[in-house]
Amino acid sequence: MINAIRGMNDIGPDETVGWQFVEQQFRELMAGYGYREVRLPLLEKTELFKRSIGEVTDIVEKEMYTFDDRNGDSLTLRPEGTAGCVRAGLEHGWLYNQIQRLWYAGPMFRHERPQKGRYRQFHQLGVEVFGLAGPDVDAELIAMTARFWHHLGVADKVTLELNSLGTPAARTHYREVLVAYLEDHRDQLDEDSQRRLKSNPLRILDSKNPDMRALLEDAPQLVTHLDTESREHFDAVCERLTDIGVAFTLNTNLVRGLDYYSRTVFEWVTDALGAQGTVCAGGRYDGLVEQLGGKPNSAVGFALGMERLVALVEEGSIPHHVFAPHAYLLMVGDDAQQTGFKLAEQLRDAIPDLRLISHCGGGSFKSQMKKADKSGAVLALILGDEEVQAGEIGIKFLREDRAQQSVNQAELQTSMQKLLRKSLESEFANVSA
Ligand code: ATP
Ligand code: MG
Repeated sequence: MINAIRGMNDIGPDETVGWQFVEQQFRELMAGYGYREVRLPLLEKTELFKRSIGEVTDIVEKEMYTFDDRNGDSLTLRPEGTAGCVRAGLEHGWLYNQIQRLWYAGPMFRHERPQKGRYRQFHQLGVEVFGLAGPDVDAELIAMTARFWHHLGVADKVTLELNSLGTPAARTHYREVLVAYLEDHRDQLDEDSQRRLKSNPLRILDSKNPDMRALLEDAPQLVTHLDTESREHFDAVCERLTDIGVAFTLNTNLVRGLDYYSRTVFEWVTDALGAQGTVCAGGRYDGLVEQLGGKPNSAVGFALGMERLVALVEEGSIPHHVFAPHAYLLMVGDDAQQTGFKLAEQLRDAIPDLRLISHCGGGSFKSQMKKADKSGAVLALILGDEEVQAGEIGIKFLREDRAQQSVNQAELQTSMQKLLRKSLESEFANVSA
């Protein structure tokens, strides 16, 4: 037996229903705001992540899956999507002098200690916007995520935390103030933080070490050292959110674990998942495009963790009926199998949205019926020797107390269309296929 790699999960057929529901809702949300999908490689040159995420970050220091390609190039499995998206944008000229609203979905890889809500292969839905400098688009991204929580039925489980990191210049000044404070309390810093005091002191605010919480809560706040423009930008974001009734709290220690952020940063957090409480995180990263060799360009984005989000969505709010088959075709006897096979294909031709399982492998009526019931289908279509001879087919209602019908095979399409009209219309209106 060969097992999967630790921290890399299989998502089984029972689980994918929830995943597809979330993904489908996300796709519709993106279309509703005019965002377009990009699909990018899982592997990039290691240098890309070092230069964008920052050398002195958890990700680059200890979490990347890095290896040499056969020709000696150092490659890394993407730990996040933003760097690759900027790289692709620069390479194909998607960014310069234009507005791009983009999204992507897919696996990310980080060598972390696997635990509930933290894996080595995990999945993100991500959004990046290029070419818009104003606070309105920051607010749009947050409004979009807030709407998403409503669609998924998790709005009452998440809260929004906001902060502003200001401009690099404002941060340089703040950095000195912060270092002075932390040096006064050097004995309370853990090993990682002592090391980062020189290399990347802001990162210390992002520490997950509970022993340092009190110290960090009393630390000087970046938000009080903001430059005027960043202050105005941040106030405008807050105002927009207030206008549309999206509540938030200011978390002055929110710095995010990646170096490329500036100005607005935000996280949607929950206490329903234990320690791994951040479901969605993002912010503005105006410096990154230039840092990766492009002309200066505004950029803002977020990523949300699929595993955490799927865990948050209640079983009850997933419309299972949208994925369950409409009908299960039972075929008892050789003649029935032959007639049924043809009939099933004709039905699929006539009703393209139909979800029909044709029974395969024979067996008794009773055993086929059990499978029909277990499949979750609404209707059982019954074809035995008797029906074949009479040119008919039985329709049994599996989910309601209603007398079985027998219809002429030639009229089956029409009957099915009638019987399923309601479910075909309503489900595809809500969660379109
Ligand atoms: P955390 O603080 O939990 O380590 P992060 O700040 O490293 O998260 P980001 O890089 O901002 O995470 O990624 C965005 C989202 O992706 C997170 O909010 C989380 O939902 C999800 N995520 C990040 N790392 C993992 C992981 N190892 N396993 C599962 N989900 C993850
Ligand atoms: Mg992390």
